[in-house]
Amino acid sequence: MIAPEQILEQQRAFFASGKTKDISFRIKQLETLRKLLQVNEKALIEAVHQDFKKPPFETYGTEIGLVLSELSFAIKNVESWAKPQSVSSSLVNFPSKNYMLTEPYGNALIISPWNYPVMLALLPLVGALAAGNTAVIKPSELTPNTSAVLEELIRSHFETELVSVIEGGVEESQLLLSLPFNYIFFTGSTRVGKIIMKAAAENLTPVTLELGGKSPCIVDASANLEISAKRIVWGKFVNAGQTCVAPDYLMVERGIKEEFTGYLEQAITQLYGEDPEQSPDYPRVINRDHFDRLSTLIDPEKVITGGQTNAESNYIAPTIMTDITWDDPVMQDEIFGPILPVLEYQSVDDCIQTINSYPRPLALYLFCSDAQIEQKVLNEVSFGGGAVNDTIAQLGNHHLSFGGVGASGFGSYHGKASFDSFSHKKSVMKKPFWPDIPVRYAPYDDLKLNLVKKVLK
Ligand code: NAD
Repeated sequence: MIAPEQILEQQRAFFASGKTKDISFRIKQLETLRKLLQVNEKALIEAVHQDFKKPPFETYGTEIGLVLSELSFAIKNVESWAKPQSVSSSLVNFPSKNYMLTEPYGNALIISPWNYPVMLALLPLVGALAAGNTAVIKPSELTPNTSAVLEELIRSHFETELVSVIEGGVEESQLLLSLPFNYIFFTGSTRVGKIIMKAAAENLTPVTLELGGKSPCIVDASANLEISAKRIVWGKFVNAGQTCVAPDYLMVERGIKEEFTGYLEQAITQLYGEDPEQSPDYPRVINRDHFDRLSTLIDPEKVITGGQTNAESNYIAPTIMTDITWDDPVMQDEIFGPILPVLEYQSVDDCIQTINSYPRPLALYLFCSDAQIEQKVLNEVSFGGGAVNDTIAQLGNHHLSFGGVGASGFGSYHGKASFDSFSHKKSVMKKPFWPDIPVRYAPYDDLKLNLVKKVLK
């Protein structure tokens, strides 16, 4: 096994050769990644299934398929994204040509979590390669089967000097963080995000932090309750609730709670049957630690559906709890599992005020048919991104950038935003030798000062 320092050394030398700056080279690498995914779809699906029984449909639909579609988009557009962008001149610099060049940062480090172990390792790689960087990926130690397959596939399809996977946990991650990479792209918890940013500060390395948080989902009385319930149940319980942008908790307008929770229960049965433990379409919680953490959040007195657990297989049923207050354990941190607490609000103003008194969430969902309420919520609440009348489906559009704000992170990616994240914008002004306007040169006088005042105001 090659030491991480040596891998970075090789990647530095390769980047310095200038090969990654050639657009046709980048397209070739993106095509290689596409082929890797197409040919090894089955191996990846099996590995993720071994890690937490994620159904093949979900691994394709929410991981492999998303990366493939992002790859096709990047392959089609990278040439135009990389073109110099002309901008206007300013009066003080007349005459001149002005433009922005994009250049790759150089050697990128991608640290990814376990919950979408294929997608969250490879989607940033698409941006890194499209922008002309080399990359080291450190996938999660909590999905060892997937991480091992990723390592093997990347090693057999790419030169180490261009892309390499380094498996391991905290220790390996911290070693990598101590090395002088030119860009760090981190996806994971807010707690570890702070550690990443501190380490990056040592080398003044720019970072993107894709973090988590408690994402609210508001249900206004004007919404189509039956369809809303179905879309919420889907977005909450896909991946067994272990989705960074899953609706963490529901804020339901007072007066519709009974009817709405009835539709939620109905939707759970429609999707996973009477006994979700028997459903091949319902994954398990990732490990015993998370199972224990989640189990303690379930208050049997407040469960209206679900609540069953099986420690042997880390199974937790899709669970809905009502009569929840902000003091309940389930409301203290991001849940990141199949438990959906339901809170009520009196007016939309109260609801907005409550949400705004907590850290800014990664996602927000609003179910409503009232345009005024929609405008009010979108204007008055700060959140990373979200959807009106759906959950998590916004991720399927390359034209929408994806990222957090405040405690849920900063920087963004997907589509062109990925290319931009991994590129430095180099601004250039080009002047002719003639004319050489004398106003800026000393000795200064009042006439020059007045002229400058006329131009710079
Ligand atoms: P995590 O922060 O524990 O781990 C993420 C990565 O960081 C892993 O590769 C891990 O090995 C590494 N790591 C862990 N501790 C470290 C340390 N002390 N020093 C250096 N590296 C360390 O996150 P997780 O449990 O794998 O994932 C769940 C979290 O990720 C949730 O909070 C979720 O909301 C968030 N998440 C965010 C997004 C997003 O796109 N914004 C996507 C998925 C998950």
